Order: sequence, then C-alpha cells, then structure tokens
Amino acid sequence: AKSEGRNLYRFFEPGMDAMVQARRALEIDLETALPRQEFDLDFQPLMNIESGEIIGAEALMRWHSPARGTVVPDEFIPVAEETGLIVPLGEWALRKACAAAASWPAGVRIAVNVSAVQLRSAGFARSVISALAFSGVPAGQLELEITETVLMDESETVLKTLRQLRELGIRIALDDFGTGYSSLGYLRRFPVDKIKIDRSFIHDLGNHDTAAIVRTIIGLGAELGITVTAEGVETEAQLDILRGNGCVEAQGYLIGVPSKASDIQRLLKSRALH
Ligand code: C2E
Ligand code: CA
Ligand code: CA
Ligand code: CA
Repeated sequence: AKSEGRNLYRFFEPGMDAMVQARRALEIDLETALPRQEFDLDFQPLMNIESGEIIGAEALMRWHSPARGTVVPDEFIPVAEETGLIVPLGEWALRKACAAAASWPAGVRIAVNVSAVQLRSAGFARSVISALAFSGVPAGQLELEITETVLMDESETVLKTLRQLRELGIRIALDDFGTGYSSLGYLRRFPVDKIKIDRSFIHDLGNHDTAAIVRTIIGLGAELGITVTAEGVETEAQLDILRGNGCVEAQGYLIGVPSKASDIQRLLKSRALH
C-alpha cells in the first residue's frame, strides 16, 4: 500500500461516479428492452384452499437481458417507475396477461400488478378497457393488484380511476397487506375486493403472535366481505394453519412456482374449475 489515504479518496469519488454510471446504463438498457422484446411474463397459480382448484394466476414480469441475464422485477421496476417507462411497460404487461388469459378455462382469473405511477397516469383506465376488449377477457376475470403506495396518493384522480375500474367489474386487490403504515385505514377508505397477506407473515406463521395477526386479518376479511389470499405459502404446515382459520385462497411455491404461459395453461386444464 503506497498511499492508503489517496487510494481511499480515489476509490470513493470515482466510485460514486461509477454508481451513477451503472444506474444510467440500466436506464438505457431498460429503455431499449421493450422495443427489443426482452420482457416476458411468468404466471403463478392461485388456489382455492377449500376446493384445491386453481382459480387464477398472477402475471409476474421478467426481463431477459442479453447483456445482464435475467433481471428480477425488484431491480428494474423501481427504475422503470422513476423514468416513467413503467407506463408503457405496464400497459404491455396488461395486454400480454389478458392475451394469455383469453385461452384459459372460463372463469379463471388473471391478476396483474399495477404500479402507483401507472394508476396516476392519464388514460390508465382506458388502457385497461382496451386490453380487455382486445383480448376478449371479461372484466370480472381481471384483478388488479395495487400496493398501499397507490392509496397514499389521495388525489381525486386515483380514487376516480379505482372506482371506474370497479364499476366495470374489475377486482381490486390490496397487495403485501400488513406491511404498510396504515393498512386498516386504507381498508376503511378504499373499496377493495381482496387482500393479499404479505408473505413475511406466512413465513413466520410458526410464531404465536404472527399466527394471531394472520387469524385476525382472515377474520377481518370475512367480516368485510373481502377475499383473503395468503402469499408465499411454502409448506403443508402453513397451508393447514390457513385452512384451519378459513383463509380463502393461497399462492406460493407449495401450490406452484411462477411458470411460463404454456405450462400454466397445461396446469389450468388439469386443475381448474372444470
Ligand atoms: P408481488 O406482487 O408481491 O409478487 C410476489 C413475489 O413473491 C414474486 O416475486 C413471486 O415470485 C414471489 N413468490 C411467490 N411465491 C413465493 C413463495 O412461496 N416464497 C417466496 N419466497 N417468494 C414467492 P417476483 O416475481 O420477483 O416479483 C417481485 C415484485 O415485483 C412483485 O411482488 C411485484 O411487486 C413486482 N412486479 C412483478 N411483476 C410486476 C408487473 O408486471 N408490474 C408491476 N408494477 N410490478 C410487478
Ligand atoms: Ca402481486
Ligand atoms: Ca405481494
Ligand atoms: Ca411485493
């Protein structure tokens, strides 16, 4: 080590630069990824706990970048939200998901994640209606999954859009339920059709207190007439607890991992409603 002080300084300053550059490179790659058709959707099945039937599937975005390999959504969705790319990207996902669901057995639902940025953008409701019309999927088969960040925006635009979508028969699901600051407050103010208990609670179901919270959420859903889904169900023991407490739906690796559209279609043919 010739001059550690100088090396540290040199590391720090250009290091910051490198981070900014890496971030910028990611933005540029993302920008071109859509026209280059590098995005794809996987589908993860949703099961009715009582009947064991697969009643729907959630679309989960994947980015297969030739340079980066497969990039997980937690890495690129936040960047896409900041740059605004999430709007065309989300619209693509909605169309692609509905197109896939068009060949599923009647009544099987398709769930699509929607970012707050998308919901706030003008013309969102129109793009949803158009995706349904184009695919022929009935509105009652579509579920839009939103997180509390969507509801933190109390602007009239978001409320109006949510109401408009519900009036069409589209279901609104509150994702990652229990992780935010005021999950209960949102339930009181916003009409939602479903809550998805965050997988951190399910993972920790062996804990006495966590189990009590989960039981309470399930009871709350029953009182309010809201469907309760448990996410991240990985073991039979977890499923047994959920079943014992009257949880309606489950999703997780135990039931099925996110899979290609063709695989999910095969699964649906064997395990769906009819
Ligand atoms: P999410 O909506 O909460 O989706 C569930 C995530 O949990 C998925 O991660 C899924 O692969 C994973 N998962 C499912 N079952 C299990 C399980 O049993 N155990 C564990 N440990 N994990 C499980 P994924 O696909 O990486 O997606 C991460 C997040 O990215 C999603 O969380 C969602 O918030 C976001 N996302 C994915 N696709 C889209 C999209 O098309 N649009 C938007 N706006 N966000 C998306
Ligand atoms: Ca989700
Ligand atoms: Ca979730
Ligand atoms: Ca999440």
